[in-house]
Amino acid sequence: MSHMLPFTDPRSAEGRNPKTMVSGRGCHVTDTEGNEYLDAVAGLWCASLGFSNERLVEAASKQLSTLPYYHSFLGRTAAVTDALARKLTEKLPVGMTKIFFGSSGSEAVDTAVKLTHFYQNARGKPEKKRVVARQGAYHGSGALSAGLTGLDYCHIGFDLPGAMVLRTGRPHYFGDAEPGESETAFSRRRARELDALIVEAGPESVAAFIGEPVMGSGGVVPPPDGYWEAVQEVLARHDVLLIADEVITGFGRTGSWFASQRYGLRPAMLTMAKQMTGAYFPMSALALESNVAEVIEKHAHELGTLGHGFTYGGHPVGAAVALEAVRIYEEMDLPNHVADRSNALNAALAPIKANPRVGNVRVIGLMAGVELVDGRDPATKLARRVADEAERRGVLFRVIGPILGISPPYVVSDAEVELIGRTLVESLDAAVRAE
Ligand code: PLP
Repeated sequence: MSHMLPFTDPRSAEGRNPKTMVSGRGCHVTDTEGNEYLDAVAGLWCASLGFSNERLVEAASKQLSTLPYYHSFLGRTAAVTDALARKLTEKLPVGMTKIFFGSSGSEAVDTAVKLTHFYQNARGKPEKKRVVARQGAYHGSGALSAGLTGLDYCHIGFDLPGAMVLRTGRPHYFGDAEPGESETAFSRRRARELDALIVEAGPESVAAFIGEPVMGSGGVVPPPDGYWEAVQEVLARHDVLLIADEVITGFGRTGSWFASQRYGLRPAMLTMAKQMTGAYFPMSALALESNVAEVIEKHAHELGTLGHGFTYGGHPVGAAVALEAVRIYEEMDLPNHVADRSNALNAALAPIKANPRVGNVRVIGLMAGVELVDGRDPATKLARRVADEAERRGVLFRVIGPILGISPPYVVSDAEVELIGRTLVESLDAAVRAE
């Protein structure tokens, strides 16, 4: 095979012979063998409007025939990109007034780190540079963003520049709480550990904390009660910026436009991508809080330019698609729509809880995790088997260690949600029988 596949063992059966998709319709995709699958993860948590939305196709096509490309460098930009930046500020948490565009989530995270450093230099704090990131976090595959990612398999063998990163514990109550520890007590413990980490490193050396409001690729981990309040209190005390990585959670995945709104986060910077264009075009953005943006712009002015940017950042076709996606989200009354689909998903996943191998089911908007138990290794093997059984039955899940990840397109129907729940029950039964 000439194609080198990300996050795949190139010498495994699936590496040599990957499942290869050729078309999509609604929440379904079809492979080269003609097998059709209900994609219960919307690709990589991103195809929020399914695989055949005519309006997004039309928006892209219209833009392609009007202005297929323009950049935003050197005092130029495209009207549609400018319009998107304005529109985003209406939806973002109050006070986030500036948008810097990229093409991928990793670029948005790299931009956040670089602008954090630029900001601290501008404030005359050149020693304040380290970034706290959590175990289990996924922030991307660029050198900086992979360094922040807290998953071993993204680090081993790559010699990433890691000195800048401080690592703190993940907010996984089900996995990491002590026996008898309440959610609030667990959150407070995590906040105390964060405080100790910053104090030990020296607050004058710590610039920012990055976190996904709800962890995605680390296992669909929602914040336990009181977590973000406690963490933000520590960050404020030490003058540490909060970067909310909303690459998955932005644009309704957890039920609010941005999860920062749902969980009361007050980020200095916020990354977004994925559902921004329903994944029909690679596009990302970093939003900046107005005071932080002001300091950065003033410093860039003193230096004569903001020396950072990507050729395809703010691509007009992506901007046109994103504007149309936002229009569709507005028309579908996004928060209420996701709440309704979330209730349906919750109901469909209820029967799986009866299986003794299921330890925890968590549904947050249209993100869900079903965590299997009885030892990490056996549960991880079992989860892999469940996903294989489900694939044979025509439904695609994501395996994250012992957790099955679910994040269907927002346009998932009642019948499809029921099929997801039913297939999971049948696949788990079959996988347990085969153990
Ligand atoms: N941040 C988060 C929270 C993500 O989930 C991802 C990708 O899954 C990224 C960043 C990186 O995005 P990309 O793959 O578009 O570079």
